[in-house]
Amino acid sequence: MKEHLIAIDQGTSSSRCVIFDRNGSVLGSSQQEFPQVYPQPGWVEHDPEAIWTSVVDTTRKALASRGVAPLSIAGLGITNQRETTLVWDRETGRCIYNAIVWQDRRTAKTCQRLRERGVEEAVIEKTGLRLDPYFSATKLAWLLDHVDGARSRAEAGRLAFGTVDSFLLWRLSGGQVHATDATNASRTLLFNIHSQQWDDELLDIFGIPAALLPAVRDCADDYGHTDAAAIGARIPIRGVAGDQQAALIGQAGFEPGVTKSTYGTGCFVIANTGAEALRSENKLLTTVAYRLGGRVTYGLEGSIFVAGSAVQWLRDQLRIIDSAQATEAIAEATGIVETVHVVPAFTGLGAPYWDPDARGAVLGLTRDSGINEIVTATLQSIAYQTCDLTRAMADDGISPSVIRVDGGMVANNWFLRFLADMLQVTVERPANVESTVTGAACLAGLGSGVYGSVQEIEALWSSDARFEPGMDAGRRERLYAGWLSAVSRVRTPG
Ligand code: ADP
Repeated sequence: MKEHLIAIDQGTSSSRCVIFDRNGSVLGSSQQEFPQVYPQPGWVEHDPEAIWTSVVDTTRKALASRGVAPLSIAGLGITNQRETTLVWDRETGRCIYNAIVWQDRRTAKTCQRLRERGVEEAVIEKTGLRLDPYFSATKLAWLLDHVDGARSRAEAGRLAFGTVDSFLLWRLSGGQVHATDATNASRTLLFNIHSQQWDDELLDIFGIPAALLPAVRDCADDYGHTDAAAIGARIPIRGVAGDQQAALIGQAGFEPGVTKSTYGTGCFVIANTGAEALRSENKLLTTVAYRLGGRVTYGLEGSIFVAGSAVQWLRDQLRIIDSAQATEAIAEATGIVETVHVVPAFTGLGAPYWDPDARGAVLGLTRDSGINEIVTATLQSIAYQTCDLTRAMADDGISPSVIRVDGGMVANNWFLRFLADMLQVTVERPANVESTVTGAACLAGLGSGVYGSVQEIEALWSSDARFEPGMDAGRRERLYAGWLSAVSRVRTPG
């Protein structure tokens, strides 16, 4: 019986591959980091061949784990860093330039010019997103305008555009499949989330030839199969979703109101809003949470660009901690810091501020402030940023009583206690905090018939720990007011 599932998680800093049995137990896994390319301040790229090699290596290693027989695998799922933009030649499969990563701000001015042209309202209405360099469209236009001959080759149908999922599908299938799923499409600024189609008006606004675009499918769907030459086995590809949507699925977020918050490099909160594409009045994003059986479920999303990477900054740039784990004991010993605020706006501020030019700061230092206060205030800043999002969501009418958390940072109990205090909701950590890769496997399971329904996926989810809010309201509001005042100091005018 084929009932094992394999999932590829192509993330911003590493690629991993995990093989599961139908109960969600891990049979084999492999992970590999790959280099970040920073050609100029504010620019972030990845070498597509480094992405590809890391995916092939980790997939081959996971498949070689003891007890795993490739023939027992019913389906493969892909989840990926979203918005990151690639263009390749349909003939050779070679990319025409590096992948431009979601964090890259090179198109900030283009976005500003488009805003001045008055197109933002139409863009928000159709895509649920905002005019920000974060999303794919302006990155794609930049590639067409800066790589010699790219625009005319694109118009002649010789090039293909894709987010990382499409690029991997193309390579894994030996150039047979040019497709994406509705969640990844919904992050490009070119896809109408209401009609579920690429949108001619949007293509026109951003100057993108339609001939570049992949076909858009459900998250659990037939995406062909892997070419044995690529990874050593022929496996049906049956699931695709962007990483944050996959995390929602891995968290079994199938009911309207269920909200998850993922703490990896950045922090991304998504609340399931069901069949309604809720339009935010507070600069949150409306996005496709998943599309199954042709039915779209929408989500309200808040994106924070810097979360765990602020902890890496403490370790790698300031060098005041030895490891990310050390932050917990330091915060435990220091206690909540009242006056010092770290605003980790290293790549601007995401939701709800959308200020690409803001930069970071440490504020409120006094003569007795030291390393411990800065470390603790950094953890606090990530909770405050989440609070910015949940307060914006509450204003939009979404007030969950529980938030399910996952990602590398949720090993930190001190952080989760402080988070519950600030958000005033129960913070729940599942037994399996690897929600993203699990979500991709679940989609492959739905697409290959290993799971008959989402209820079977819900049954796999279990809680590990709950953190209840305890702080008194006066202190909470005082701390939060201090944060808001610190943020106002780093924002660019206007
Ligand atoms: P990604 O998938 O985005 O690469 P992960 O989900 O693996 O990220 O999470 C890694 C992040 O979590 C790193 O940025 C790291 O600094 C942070 N991190 C890991 N463990 C802890 C901890 N105990 N306390 C605080 N931060 C942590």
